[in-house]
Amino acid sequence: MSPERWAAVKAEAAAWDVPSSGRFALGGSGTKSHFLPPPVDPVWRLPAPADPIIQWMPDDQVVVAWAGASVADLQAILAEKGQCLPLPQTGHPDVDGRPGTLGGLAAMNLPHGLEAQCGPVRDWILGVVVRLADGSVARAGSTAVKSVAGYDIHRLFAGSRGRLGIVAAVALRTFPIRALPTTSARAEGGSSDRVFICRTPRADFDDFRRRATRVIASDPASATLWLGAEPAGFQGWMIGPNGRLQPRPPEELDRQAKLRFDPEMRLNLHLES
Ligand SMILES: Cc1cc2nc3c(=O)[nH]c(=O)nc-3n(C[C@H](O)[C@H](O)[C@H](O)COP(=O)(O)OP(=O)(O)OC[C@H]3O[C@@H](n4cnc5c(N)ncnc54)[C@H](O)[C@@H]3O)c2cc1C
Repeated sequence: MSPERWAAVKAEAAAWDVPSSGRFALGGSGTKSHFLPPPVDPVWRLPAPADPIIQWMPDDQVVVAWAGASVADLQAILAEKGQCLPLPQTGHPDVDGRPGTLGGLAAMNLPHGLEAQCGPVRDWILGVVVRLADGSVARAGSTAVKSVAGYDIHRLFAGSRGRLGIVAAVALRTFPIRALPTTSARAEGGSSDRVFICRTPRADFDDFRRRATRVIASDPASATLWLGAEPAGFQGWMIGPNGRLQPRPPEELDRQAKLRFDPEMRLNLHLES
């Protein structure tokens, strides 16, 4: 990002009407709220930008976009030049995120139907601009696909569920539509108000799939099942309703990150366990 563009982004994020004191929760479109405990504090939502894109370098397959932009709007713009974020549609609403924001996509880092082929969302995130709870605006990472500069602080924000700060903008790697692999993710069952996403080691997947009940969708390539009921005695990676997450992230790492980025403990406290 040029110094002028960075200054403009910083000024815009600094001017948002984020609560200047007290606790608050951060919301996008709320499409993943069933995976989270309900907020106890007032919810502040990112403004939807008039133009999702801050900077686009199609030849480098990199786009910098506002986190408050909808994924669908960004996809439509990227498609004009044959590019996309590789989020395939299985046709099942519990699997294909309903229209939500880029910030929510980054903050949840959930499995998707081309994960085995194109990597997790975390790997597409090359950099972030964040507004911390104290009002300061900072950036981390870069806009280059291959970068060795500095620490990968931006990766901490992928999957952070908004606990550390407000992702204001995100630099993302894009993919050429014509070279997208075919997804092996398939919708298999009805909808559920209690979705569990489970991942096994590849070698255990077929057996797990055979024994599973209430299967909503499956993706053999990434050994992922979307289920409408909690599988008994499951030991692998799982995210479920109301903040259910296993294994929990290492407690000390989690605590230290929270203390560094939100030392006054103001943001998304309903997610602290
Ligand atoms: C065509 C299409 C396909 C898609 N496919 C998938 C898919 O396969 N998998 C998938 O996961 N998503 C997919 N999505 C994206 C999904 O719909 C949502 O965009 C996203 O996952 C959640 O966004 P949200 O705004 O609803 O988040 P919310 O449910 O509002 O928030 C979820 C969490 O993120 C935090 N959060 C929200 N915004 C920010 C921010 N700016 N900074 C920090 N934290 C924040 C919140 O505090 C909360 O903890 C797809 C979207 C489209 C349009």
